[in-house]
Amino acid sequence: MGTQNTASPQKAAADGLDPHLRQVASGPAGGESGDLPDNIRRTTADAALALLGTGPGGLTDEEAAERQRRYGKNLIESARKRSPVLAFLSNFTHLMAILLWVAGAIAFVAGLPELGCAVWLVNIINGVFSFWQEHRASQATEALKKMLPAYANVIRGGREQKVLAEDLVPGDIMLLAEGDRISADARVIASSDLQVNQSTLNGESNPSRKTSDAVPEDGLTPAEIPNLVFAGTSVSEGNGRAVVLRIGMATEFGKIANLTQNMEEVRSPLQRDLDRLTKQVTVFAMCMGLAFFSLSLFVVHEPFAQSFIFALGMVVAFIPEGLLPTVTLSLAMAVQRMSRRNALVKKLDSVEALGSTSVICTDKTGTLTQNEMTVNHLWTASREYGVTGVGYAPEGRIESEGAAYRAVDDPDLELLLEGGLLCGNARLRAPEEEGRRYEVYGDPTEACLIVSAQKGGIDPAELERRMPRVKELPFESRRKRMTTVHALEEPVDGAMRVAFTKGAPNEVVRLADRVRVGGRVVPMTDGMRERIMAANDAYAADGLRVLAVAYRALGADAAGEGVPASLSAYTPDVIERHLTFVGLEAMMDPPRPEVAAAVAECRRAGIRIVMITGDYGLTAASIARRIGIVEGDDLSVISGFELSKMGDEELRAKLAGQVVFARMAPEQKLRVVSALQEMGEIVAVTGDGVNDAPALKKADIGVAMGVAGTDVAKEAADMILTDDNFASIVAAIEEGRAVYSNIRKFLLYILNSNAPEAVPNAVYLLSGGAVPLPLTTMQILTIDLGTDMLPALGLGTEPPEATVMDQPPRDPNERLLNRRVLVKAFLWYGLMGSAAAMVGYFLVNLLNGWPAVPLAGEGDPVYIQATTMTLAGIVFAQIGQVMNCRTERTSVFKIGLLSNRQIVVGIVFEVALIVFLTVFPPLQGVFHTVPLGWQDYVFLCCIPPVVIAIEEARKAWLRRRAARRRDGGSAR
Ligand code: ATP
Repeated sequence: MGTQNTASPQKAAADGLDPHLRQVASGPAGGESGDLPDNIRRTTADAALALLGTGPGGLTDEEAAERQRRYGKNLIESARKRSPVLAFLSNFTHLMAILLWVAGAIAFVAGLPELGCAVWLVNIINGVFSFWQEHRASQATEALKKMLPAYANVIRGGREQKVLAEDLVPGDIMLLAEGDRISADARVIASSDLQVNQSTLNGESNPSRKTSDAVPEDGLTPAEIPNLVFAGTSVSEGNGRAVVLRIGMATEFGKIANLTQNMEEVRSPLQRDLDRLTKQVTVFAMCMGLAFFSLSLFVVHEPFAQSFIFALGMVVAFIPEGLLPTVTLSLAMAVQRMSRRNALVKKLDSVEALGSTSVICTDKTGTLTQNEMTVNHLWTASREYGVTGVGYAPEGRIESEGAAYRAVDDPDLELLLEGGLLCGNARLRAPEEEGRRYEVYGDPTEACLIVSAQKGGIDPAELERRMPRVKELPFESRRKRMTTVHALEEPVDGAMRVAFTKGAPNEVVRLADRVRVGGRVVPMTDGMRERIMAANDAYAADGLRVLAVAYRALGADAAGEGVPASLSAYTPDVIERHLTFVGLEAMMDPPRPEVAAAVAECRRAGIRIVMITGDYGLTAASIARRIGIVEGDDLSVISGFELSKMGDEELRAKLAGQVVFARMAPEQKLRVVSALQEMGEIVAVTGDGVNDAPALKKADIGVAMGVAGTDVAKEAADMILTDDNFASIVAAIEEGRAVYSNIRKFLLYILNSNAPEAVPNAVYLLSGGAVPLPLTTMQILTIDLGTDMLPALGLGTEPPEATVMDQPPRDPNERLLNRRVLVKAFLWYGLMGSAAAMVGYFLVNLLNGWPAVPLAGEGDPVYIQATTMTLAGIVFAQIGQVMNCRTERTSVFKIGLLSNRQIVVGIVFEVALIVFLTVFPPLQGVFHTVPLGWQDYVFLCCIPPVVIAIEEARKAWLRRRAARRRDGGSAR
């Protein structure tokens, strides 16, 4: 069900329809949130359909459109959002902002209105800027939500259709399958072992069984009524159909939606880290201010007011305004970039976990492979066949020893193909235009069985008419098989029905006690079991996926096992036994072409890949080798059964080496994830089914498949792959790493200007005033006010550096602001900037004779020119530094000096600002500036190249050292 700000449409437009339907759809008259209409549940499914003005073929498209006009969209109103005015004001009321308000006020009181204004202006500009950043971030996340629309499968006009969940109307017939999220309140009209998880409604996590029978009992709460399903719940097992009763805010979920929407947004570890960091730096700034104040007052004997201004400059210089919103924006931008690379991240904090992911647990089918199956071998006990043709077009033939075969030529082959075809739910649609491909609806594993049957000359429609399905025991990853029961036109040996089972060969063989050989049924022997499994292993070792097909005649059971006549008594335990084995269908599922490169990238990036698949060990190992997950012979293939017998200690030992988990039940993923987490790894896990949900939740990054995944898996996950492709996880990890390093670059940049702002003051203080103050407080504010911000912002948008995947995963305990960043900011970049500033200052003094101007002589033009040069020196040094901050080791020339447009614009802006402040007379007085001469600009223009050249030399040295280490390592 969609979520949107909307008025409750159901109540508004319920007119003109059958009065009963109106009451059903809108809730009882009077608007109270009363009970669901009783007669819908008390009556039979057919009568319920009639009451809702629909039938088994659903509504026509026109009727659906008409009902939508009347009842509106199936949407839940969002809870009221925080008012934008409050959001705006909050940027002016946090700790740092309050400090600046107070500081400004003191300046006014002390008779320094210019300073007071400037400090307040800094505060206002930062507040507006922060609000804008936050707004952009929230827009980016909102846009992302829209990329994840919910769908529902319905029957309209007698055809299956996929519609947006928000377009469901009362009377629509929903098709429910395992893992589907139910999008409206509905009455069940058909159920095949349908079980629903209603924990969103009543907190009960055990699934509730749902039937299509009438429920006349009294005294049941809505959730207890077994023929009703509710919006917001999900199908945990089986499948069924249900006719929609209520939509949107009229549903049970709508009534409680406001409760669930009011959940607080949790701050991510990175945001918490930054909160702490900001507070620490603020305290540090206050201490610096106090120290400078005392020095000025007691060492240089400046008057109180001067000392205060001086200290204030230091405090403002050090406070990292704008840090938090910029980080939020960087995260949001990264999330947007990831979505362009097919990875939709649901929460911003997942970006960080992605950046430090050290192990990816991935399934195989569809993620590492294309999930485009083609049967290329068929095996029966009397003959082995090859199948030609690739893809879902029924073009190709079945052959054995050079001769073509049709199904009718071999009764075992015929039964194998028929069983494979009948026991499945996939559909194929032929292309309408020339050159297009066949479209698959449903499971590709099942679709390819239709194709192999067609290649054998079987007509699916004719076969389904001849042997209509009367019951399905759906596929479950746990059972690794499925069964369908079909009615026979005429009794065969007294049997009126036949059950076809298809599934993992070892499972099917285990349950079979007979086997077809040359058209006859003979008892299954151990020798035959071994023969079948040897054939299976030979295919699997080639990376093929193998399914076995078996059948069982039901009715007069030849094995003497009485099977109840009632279909409702057909459960897997009753039906899937005493099977007659027919044969194997082996299918290829080629690896995705881009996966091998992504696996190699993971290796370089120190990320381990653990394959956890439901498929057979040999198939899994073969694919793992082919795409490079496994190298050399040192591999443990652990089956689900072996894992269940394994202690934690042993599991951890296995996990330290190369390992592939095969034939795993989804529930077992959770154990592997937990073991890896106990070993200190940051784990990303893929999943698509209902049973994958616990592992997806437990993982540091749960990754659901957007195409093949169920709604339940998508809800449990942190990230959804829109193309189900393993390579997209690696792309997201790369972005995750990049955003973290970008935030660090940003931090490095805004911290590094602190040193050049502080050093001139320190020189003045430590010289006891002999060197006149080279940078005034107003000039410090200029840097904070305008020149620093824009280029800094550009750093947050840098694309991932080429080397970002050459390093091991980040230690999640490592702080954003570590010693290395501090040293680099203050002692390396900071000193370069300080040198540039001070050289500029002394140069003016030297060229014009040492004026030794005391503070009182602020009017001296040479002195003012010198301080202007200090200011401009810092700004021009920052131009170089912003370029230096863009990469850690890579040469900035390699990524293109001008490749980041935002930075270039920022630089142009800051130069323009400086020129403006020096030439515009009214501002000259305020900021203590004079216009600079061309010689000054020549000097200033030399600063960025020098600053860049020095850092480039260091980066080159770092690169050479890393290469030497790598060579040394590989030589060893
Ligand atoms: P992965 O876990 O990597 O996606 P998988 O598709 O093999 O691999 P499951 O879907 O859990 O994992 O399937 C487990 C096994 O069940 C398969 O290897 C296959 O033998 C069998 N199987 C898969 N799909 C069907 C199906 N539709 N009908 C019957 N058996 C199936």
